[in-house]
Amino acid sequence: MAAAPPTVAIVGRPNVGKSTLVNRITGRRDAIVEDTPGVTRDRKEIEADWAGRSFTLVDTGGWLPGGTDLDAKVTRQSEHAIAQADVVLLVVDTTVGVNDGDERMAALLRRRSGATFVVANKVDSQQREPDIWEFAALGLGDPVPISAIHGRGTGDLLDLVVGALPPAEDQLGHSSGAEAEAGQDDGAVAFSVAIVGRPNVGKSTLFNRLVGEERSVVHDLAGTTRDSVDTVLSTDAGRIRFVDTAGLRRRGKEAEGPEYYSLVRALQSIDSSDTALLVIDSTEGVTHQDQRLAERIDAAGSPVVIVLNKWELLDDEQKETLQHQVADMLAFLTYAPVLKVSALTGLGVHKLLPALGQAEEAYSRRIPTAVLNRVVQAAQAAHPPPNAKIQYATQGAVHPPTFTLFANRELPPTYLRYIERKIREHFELGPTPIKIRVRRRGG
Ligand code: GDP
Ligand code: GDP
Repeated sequence: MAAAPPTVAIVGRPNVGKSTLVNRITGRRDAIVEDTPGVTRDRKEIEADWAGRSFTLVDTGGWLPGGTDLDAKVTRQSEHAIAQADVVLLVVDTTVGVNDGDERMAALLRRRSGATFVVANKVDSQQREPDIWEFAALGLGDPVPISAIHGRGTGDLLDLVVGALPPAEDQLGHSSGAEAEAGQDDGAVAFSVAIVGRPNVGKSTLFNRLVGEERSVVHDLAGTTRDSVDTVLSTDAGRIRFVDTAGLRRRGKEAEGPEYYSLVRALQSIDSSDTALLVIDSTEGVTHQDQRLAERIDAAGSPVVIVLNKWELLDDEQKETLQHQVADMLAFLTYAPVLKVSALTGLGVHKLLPALGQAEEAYSRRIPTAVLNRVVQAAQAAHPPPNAKIQYATQGAVHPPTFTLFANRELPPTYLRYIERKIREHFELGPTPIKIRVRRRGG
């Protein structure tokens, strides 16, 4: 049975440029472009593809046509299309600004769980770009500027759309509305984890304990690097892929020797996974090799959870010493949660998957521009930067969350750390690294 392609619904008031966008994406003239507002059209479905992914574009021209009682005119068919769509594009007209109809639609779309993008159309030139931020107030994330007529920004938009589609192997399950269930073989993997640490710190013991937990259903898959095997666990926190686990699952891994998890191998697994679990042997303290691994994880920009394993072997004084040592030697990983664990007895192990899940969630977080600006402006009002002013803030990227501050002058590093702390606190971005960039503008 062939999987149905995912669907992308295009909605918006009349005359914002939906049909023009559909034509731009499909390179065809199937959608009818009308200059008259309020022309009701049938819902059209058109096949499209981008970057090797096929999807069905649903042009809901008939949704919310002009008139006063907008909600009453929501057509059932279009409502259905929107509920079913994997991605919804709310097209708005930058030359007009936020209008009542946009707000009504945004309110309906905010209740959706799937991805929704605000497409700020008619940005025919760069000068118009600042106008898009008004639409951040719709509460659906950063508006994406395009000009459907000229094709400006439409490639970037399609990259975002394709990135938000369910993974190709998950299309069947997703389009039928089925939840990925424990034990199902074709579910999507939420995120991947590399378990790294020096030999004998207890990585295998820890991993086997995770696998041994009742609720975890295990699948072994071919890994991302040659000769490697990954293990997927179905857990309460979703399906998690542990990378390069062959050496961890084998009990008594003498055949491979203690060098199985050589530094090179560990570094590869860091690079091919979303998050890292850095296991440290509490009885040995933080060694230089631990520090090197930590630096490498930090450089990769991935979130990390630090595990102080064999914790049960320490007395109170040793516990205190170790905590100071972690704060000191791993100070650059301030954002990383530190878990005290005994893989042998199971102490604290249940905290591991939730901590990884939270780190991954923060790492993928998208903060609406309007809220971000409120927080940055409040921080700035409470403590203004020396001789400078932040005019605007946006989140440019996820993985990790990356923020751009538009300012009229350079901002000193201490001030950036202050803003970073405020953003972290307010949005509870605790366990992920974040990046802040400054762009000078005007003055
Ligand atoms: P729809 O009712 O939302 O499907 O809107 P249409 O695609 O029919 O476009 C409405 C009008 O806006 C038409 O006159 C289009 O030529 C014009 N339009 C669409 N996209 C753009 C754009 O990117 N820039 C400008 N300047 N006009 C556009
Ligand atoms: P790996 O090389 O990092 O995979 O380490 P192993 O999982 O093979 O563990 C090395 C040794 O440490 C084994 O003898 C384990 O039994 C022991 N070990 C692992 N975790 C703990 C723990 O939490 N407490 C204690 N006391 N020993 C542990």
